[in-house]
Amino acid sequence: MALALQTFATVKDANAALKSRGSRYLGGGTLVVRAANEGDVSISGLVRSTEPSLFTITVADGKVRIGASVTMAAIARHPDLSAIVRAARAVGGPAVRNMATIGGNLFAPAPYGDFAVALLALDATVGTDDGEMPIETFLAGRDGSRAIVTSVGFTLPKPDGFRFLKVSRVKPKGVSVLSIAAVLELAGDGTVSSARIALGCMADRPLRAKAAEKALIGQNLTTDGIAPALAVANDGTSPATDPIASAWYRNEVLPVHLGRLLLS
Ligand SMILES: Cc1cc2nc3c(=O)[nH]c(=O)nc-3n(C[C@H](O)[C@H](O)[C@H](O)COP(=O)(O)OP(=O)(O)OC[C@H]3O[C@@H](n4cnc5c(N)ncnc54)[C@H](O)[C@@H]3O)c2cc1C
Repeated sequence: MALALQTFATVKDANAALKSRGSRYLGGGTLVVRAANEGDVSISGLVRSTEPSLFTITVADGKVRIGASVTMAAIARHPDLSAIVRAARAVGGPAVRNMATIGGNLFAPAPYGDFAVALLALDATVGTDDGEMPIETFLAGRDGSRAIVTSVGFTLPKPDGFRFLKVSRVKPKGVSVLSIAAVLELAGDGTVSSARIALGCMADRPLRAKAAEKALIGQNLTTDGIAPALAVANDGTSPATDPIASAWYRNEVLPVHLGRLLLS
């Protein structure tokens, strides 16, 4: 069956069209078109919007707003977003990054969603025509969400305040075993004054390592100082076993890679 594609000048009209059964929003299409091609019969039509704000990046006074249709390639080459470039470059190869949007990444199930992990550590907000919500609220309810995501917003981290690490195999190349993003602030004496750590592939969607965050407060970023955080890094995780890695393996290597990220 041929897929119908409807294009609307405004998000409002596209949202209205999405109410019809079987229609799905089209971002870059790297997942949704693949699903349709592979025979997902629940998809009967695609809807997209060309509203200019969806394709815009603004950085002003340390605040970032990225339209949902902005691609990973556009984020990676933006001169004011160098602090988070590693996370954008972690998504697929060059061809995928030219298509993959930030909006679609928010919906990508594990083992995908590497950029959403970064956004969770950055304490981003997710915008729709109805307003903005914290990314944690969005991720918790995304399965039932029908509204078009219009943008994400976050405060630009200090140049050395954002850390990101993606672990993948040589074969098959690219897809995450896990990913970790951290936003850390240090006090004058070098101890951690605030920590936000997000994990990818350690559940069906990005989640925070809240016990590890708490254990880091007041500690130095030394082998001894981070040991309590590594001991609780797996608290609350429920990784999948998939062709990339088993749940057991993911749990085993998480503290190792979190340790490397914190000491880097
Ligand atoms: C070969 C290959 C390699 C990949 N490697 C990686 C990787 O390393 N890391 C990674 O994170 N991902 C990877 N992906 C997955 C995917 O490319 C990315 O997650 C990408 O960001 C998804 O965005 P998209 O715009 O292509 O989503 P689409 O396929 O367009 O959409 C995905 C889902 O999100 C919904 N959606 C999209 N945009 C919106 C919006 N604005 N509002 C509401 N709903 C929306 C769609 O309806 C659909 O349900 C890979 C995919 C392929 C094919």
